[in-house]
Amino acid sequence: MSSEAAISYTLLSDLKSGETAVITKIKGYGAFRKRINEMGFIPGTTVKVIKKAPLQDPIEYELMNYRVSLRKSEADLIEVISENEAKNIVEKPFEGTILSNSDCIQKVVKKGQRTIDVALVGNPNSGKTTLFNHVTGKREKVGNYVGVTVEQKTAQLKHAGYDIHITDLPGTYSMSEYSPEELYVRKHLTEKMPDVVINVVDASNLERNLFLTTQLIDMNIKVVIALNMYDELEEKGDSFDYKTLGKMIGIPIIPVVATKGKGIDELLNIVIDVYEEKESDYRHIHISYGADVNNAIAAIREEINKNPIVKDKFHSHYVAVKLLEDDKHFTQQIANIPDTENIITCAQKEVKAIEREYKENSSAVITDAKYAFIRGALKETYTVANNENKIKNHGLDALFTNKWLGFPVFLFLMFLMFQVTFTLGSYPQEWIEAGVKWFGSLIQNNMSAGALRDLLVDGIIGGVGGVIVFLPNIIILFFCISLMEDTGYMARAAFLMDKLMHGIGLHGKSFIPLLMGFGCNVPAIMATRTLDNKKDRILTMLIIPFMSCSARLPVYILLISAFFTHHHGLVLTSIYAVGILLGVLTALVLNKTSFRKKDAPFVMELPPYRMPTLRNTIIHMWSKSVQYLKKMGTIILLASIIVWALGYFPREVNSSNNSSTQLENSYIGRLGHFIEPVIHPLGYDWKIGVSLLSGLAAKEIVVSTMGVLYQSDAETVGTSASLQTKLQEQEFTGGPRIGQKVFTPLVAYSLMLFILIYFPCVAAVAAIRKESNWKWAVFSVFYSTALAWIVAFLVYNVGSMFIA
Ligand code: GDP
Ligand code: MG
Repeated sequence: MSSEAAISYTLLSDLKSGETAVITKIKGYGAFRKRINEMGFIPGTTVKVIKKAPLQDPIEYELMNYRVSLRKSEADLIEVISENEAKNIVEKPFEGTILSNSDCIQKVVKKGQRTIDVALVGNPNSGKTTLFNHVTGKREKVGNYVGVTVEQKTAQLKHAGYDIHITDLPGTYSMSEYSPEELYVRKHLTEKMPDVVINVVDASNLERNLFLTTQLIDMNIKVVIALNMYDELEEKGDSFDYKTLGKMIGIPIIPVVATKGKGIDELLNIVIDVYEEKESDYRHIHISYGADVNNAIAAIREEINKNPIVKDKFHSHYVAVKLLEDDKHFTQQIANIPDTENIITCAQKEVKAIEREYKENSSAVITDAKYAFIRGALKETYTVANNENKIKNHGLDALFTNKWLGFPVFLFLMFLMFQVTFTLGSYPQEWIEAGVKWFGSLIQNNMSAGALRDLLVDGIIGGVGGVIVFLPNIIILFFCISLMEDTGYMARAAFLMDKLMHGIGLHGKSFIPLLMGFGCNVPAIMATRTLDNKKDRILTMLIIPFMSCSARLPVYILLISAFFTHHHGLVLTSIYAVGILLGVLTALVLNKTSFRKKDAPFVMELPPYRMPTLRNTIIHMWSKSVQYLKKMGTIILLASIIVWALGYFPREVNSSNNSSTQLENSYIGRLGHFIEPVIHPLGYDWKIGVSLLSGLAAKEIVVSTMGVLYQSDAETVGTSASLQTKLQEQEFTGGPRIGQKVFTPLVAYSLMLFILIYFPCVAAVAAIRKESNWKWAVFSVFYSTALAWIVAFLVYNVGSMFIA
């Protein structure tokens, strides 16, 4: 036989005791392959079977002069070629055994690696058998009714120097457990582990056909889509940007007409490229099932990762999804593996939680999410020739994603949300303020004077109390956001924003965390987890701090009401607008520099609209609010104490000193003086410097520090003038501008911009570090602070030329 003859490959587990073979291919997934490779099982290595245990498990092998034992399930995933088979490949006569001749081994291995197992998977009647016949030259029966292919047919062909073993599988709509065909296909894919799956998709019925594709995506196998019946699509005149869709889902899509053999060469070329991992469009994506299901998946995966056998056999994401679907066969399959009780219990707990929440069985929830994915993908890529949209608009989509009405509706809803947040929030805000005041004076009046009382009243209650008043606003904002998420509107908003966001190199989905940033940057940074790729996550994280969070609002309110007599709303809006503008510019610049590599687009899911339940919305709102509460209980508390202590010590013995002088001589006062040269060009005095320093912890603290610093001036002590008046009266007490007013509208405006832009608060920096790494956290700190200085400098100095 010549080397051209097809040879059959054996699995390592099929060898008998004493037999020797060469490894040609390792199947299976990442972690398994890595571990097997580390043990020395790599293509080209000679393995000898030492002994098989009575029950065939485990099996002991010898390779590279040492012995290892493998489970049968592991040996099943290693393809080998035995010495006898190898002889068929090597033409020239050889001396000794083939397996001791390295040239021969290379040849054998190469041949093994040039054999590709391909499986055809698709809906009934999508044209699999037609394709199979065309590719292999066989004449299997083709029929226009369901269930023609009842068993698998296998054939071999040669293409571009590769041996392709192709299997035609029964048609299935899904890979759940509804029919014997479905189980059969699933078994083939998980047990035979074909190298590449050709997913045959009927172009005239994409929505239903792509459902199966989403299951293949979950399984994390190499897939190429044969977009069959492309002739029919063209005939209808529809246009389908299949290239973009392929990039979105990470699967190359090749249009073919199986009946005429069109596109088949191209299809096979791509199959080879995907197999060799040369195809750039190929990547493994995760379908986003929405926050609740995604969290459940993460929890189950954590359990799976503790079990090496499950991890080797399946991709953990796939196992998690299957268990969440409550797939009985699959659950049983996992249950049969030792030590999987925890995985199953965890999954059942999550299934219950989802069913309680959605009042629907969990597999339906996942199916809905898959269709949401498909709808979103097709909405962006498929245009129907005649105007009646075939991709069904889900009722309200006619309004919410409408070309003309979508944006005005969106802007109105945003306006409504902010309006509700601030107007409705102002009532409980007053109550809390009163409560904090009452509590402070309670302690003030009932404790004996001393450092401890000062710490409690000025440090802790003053500091944390100044921040806790914004809690109602934050909770209301989170309530609105949760409501929009739960109804499915948020996905539409992201869809609408997608085009605009692309303009700055981001994705529509980034819009949600950015929007949340107006509430509090910390949960917003955490929300970037929902983005599918790292670049989008980091870029979004870096621009979130420019979205002016509610903590900065008290500073604006104080300064605007003190220094602007008219147009309060306009001034405030302009601050927010500058923040957004800087965010956009930052994104553009980073896109041109650090993030130049173009990322593949991804799908925006369009989930069905749902009637939200109050209970769920409140649960979601609460889980978001907890993050903010944690920030108050930890970082803000700690920072308040530190700022207080730095301002309190060292104590002056001379009691005639008033508290302002005390502060000036304190550590923080000295720090303020120390940085005065840096902030002097911005028109600020040392007290502003101190306030800015204290704002590093949380920007709300700027106001409370100003309260301490300006309130306690010698001349005004005992008068009841408000902080606003105090600020208006403030004059420089030294330096070249002695006697001049510190604050002018210009200084106030530049200060607001500085506070908007500089150093995201400690909690935000910590969140950036946690979600990315130190490098980006440090970058964010220096970049924002430098930018703040430059902007404030320009505003103050350029402004001074026009305003006397
Ligand atoms: P299977 O169930 O997936 O194996 O599908 P078949 O191969 O049996 O094909 C189903 C029907 O679709 C047959 O009548 C084919 O002739 C027809 N068909 C297959 N491919 C194409 C194609 O590319 N264009 C058109 N117009 N018809 C096709
Ligand atoms: Mg068929």
